[in-house]
Amino acid sequence: MKSESEIYAKVIVDAPGLSELDYVVPPDMLVAIGDRVLVGLRTRTVVGIVVALNAASDYTGTRLRRIRTVLKDTAPLPADWLALTRFAARYYVRSWGETAIPTLPVFFRRSPGVRHECQLEKIRELTNCKTEAVERPVLNAKQRSVVDRVVKAKGFAPFLLFGVTGSGKTEVYLHIIEETLARDPDAQVLLLVPEINLTPQLEARVKERFPEEKVVSLNSEFSDTVRARSWLAVHEGRARIMVGTRMSIYASFKKLALVIVDEEHDGSFKAGDGSRYSARDLAVWRASHGKFPVVLGSATPSLESWVQAQTGRYQLLEMSERAVSRAQLPEVRLTDVPRRGSGVTLTSVTNDAIEKTLGAGRQVLVFLNRRGYSPVLSCPSCGWVSKCRRCSTFAVFHKGTRKLVCHHCGWQTDVPTACPQCGNIDILPKGTGTERLEEELQRSFPDKRILRIDRDSVSRKKEAEVAFQKVYRGEIDILVGTQIIAKGHDFKNVGLVVILNADTQLLSPDPRAKERLFATLMQVAGRAGRHGDRGTVLIQTRFPSEPLFGALEEQNYVLFTTHLMQERKENWSVPFVYQALLTAQAQTLSEALYFLETTAKTAESLAPNDVRVYDPVPMSLMRLMDMERAQLLIEADNRSSLNKFLWQWQATFKAPSNISWTIEVDPASV
Ligand code: ADP
Ligand code: ZN
Ligand code: ZN
Repeated sequence: MKSESEIYAKVIVDAPGLSELDYVVPPDMLVAIGDRVLVGLRTRTVVGIVVALNAASDYTGTRLRRIRTVLKDTAPLPADWLALTRFAARYYVRSWGETAIPTLPVFFRRSPGVRHECQLEKIRELTNCKTEAVERPVLNAKQRSVVDRVVKAKGFAPFLLFGVTGSGKTEVYLHIIEETLARDPDAQVLLLVPEINLTPQLEARVKERFPEEKVVSLNSEFSDTVRARSWLAVHEGRARIMVGTRMSIYASFKKLALVIVDEEHDGSFKAGDGSRYSARDLAVWRASHGKFPVVLGSATPSLESWVQAQTGRYQLLEMSERAVSRAQLPEVRLTDVPRRGSGVTLTSVTNDAIEKTLGAGRQVLVFLNRRGYSPVLSCPSCGWVSKCRRCSTFAVFHKGTRKLVCHHCGWQTDVPTACPQCGNIDILPKGTGTERLEEELQRSFPDKRILRIDRDSVSRKKEAEVAFQKVYRGEIDILVGTQIIAKGHDFKNVGLVVILNADTQLLSPDPRAKERLFATLMQVAGRAGRHGDRGTVLIQTRFPSEPLFGALEEQNYVLFTTHLMQERKENWSVPFVYQALLTAQAQTLSEALYFLETTAKTAESLAPNDVRVYDPVPMSLMRLMDMERAQLLIEADNRSSLNKFLWQWQATFKAPSNISWTIEVDPASV
């Protein structure tokens, strides 16, 4: 018998396609909105979150199940967190539960075991090693005015801090954090940082600056326990500062009062898998919902943010000079690439420049965004090339481990002793990766100390930190590396930065490739001459007249971006249009394409005037891990029409079981 006073809870669970489910609250159970609960879902028991409590249920006629247990081990998830995850689910066209639940640390999204209480106690223990308070520089006038603008802002205030490398942005962040925390004893702040190896250095800087505060960090490299500890510390308000990578935008805070996104243009803020959210965009949403400031900082802002600043939606804060007055912007020089078949990667111009720099007692940094020995092995007599068995791509030759490795899926195999096709024993490496470059440098500069840093030489953040310390201490003459050496590091004695293989990105068909290349080059260039004498950046390229280099030579982001913005506007490209990408995977390409063609037809019939449906095409990396992939691009002039359309359209999908598909909103590349 159903009693009159029965209460129904709407519960979200981690399952695609299911929105809120109704459960009966047992009469003696105390449940609040935001509580984690154990509920039966089909044959399993899962952790769900209560998002509403009602006196009636929408589901009449079915016997509703009861909530089994309410987990009162910590405070309920707060309303702003529920609002955030709900917004993200709507925006990225996913169910609320499948968006929200996976953001919780594993410990909080599984059924508690018998040792739950004891484990929780461990997780609550937050020991922060006290650090010595350090001297902090007095802000220069420019920094002061930037800090003032932010801390004096009332309510929601989005800022774009456009400051050249070394202009003292990090110092500005630290002051903004300090003043925000000083004003309100409950206030908490979140500092979002890119994925790559920047965290330990920055985290250390934050910790030593706030010796009295509990500073926690969160990133995907941490163990479940460490993640749970950091998460819980901000959820319960015991820590006031969180430094973390993109996943931390989903942390639950007791009273979040400020978010800072460092290097806001960085690609790692966009999740490439799962829910594919943009942490930067969600940061702005959180600030607008919570009515507090958000600071996006970069020396090379994303075009998206730049446009927002141009149209006045974001306030632009500029710092155009380096904080340490002796430091100057580097000189940029261009030189040709070596002749094809010459067997070397560095020209004599480059070698001379390296020699001169080392002679002057300064360090050299050589940047090549391609790890391994050579991108491919080939047989000159029959034309065989090393390929991944599972993907439509080359298998990269790694000399150190004698392996052929696919950089997309991780597949690897031993290097064959002879051509697998014709038996020729003279199979040759083609092209250069960091491993080969290191070898070439060692030949040219036999008595110099050369260090290579890439994901093969340092697979963990800690190892990378140790390696970088060597560079800081001056124990290295030449540092060779990939992207990993481009970011954030405050090298004191680098006199020359050499950039190789920029041309590959110049030739890429992706509309965002140039924007990314420019950002990377500016960042790499920023490693030169940060302190003391002027540094040099030397770029080997076949396209010296490319306008991008002109802008780089002048270190002129505005020039570059103004040009780029014009180009994108004329081409009706992002960010002036809004995109979503439907990708389908299947055993065969035709199955994937067939599914997309069917959905494209429905799309055509549903699409309003301001939404355009493109033709399905194979993806540029067509086969990945033995799955064939195709994509369908949707473009709209208006964000809300796109969102509305996507929900209607998605509801019509009838994918056969051999197809898997995903919709990505605001894809990073198409
Ligand atoms: P960014 O984050 O913009 O690259 P940083 O904040 O790391 O710049 O500052 C670059 C360098 O200048 C650092 O070594 C920093 O300690 C120093 N610096 C920053 N602001 C000041 C200041 N007001 N006075 C003296 N040194 C400063
Ligand atoms: Zn052969
Ligand atoms: Zn592969």
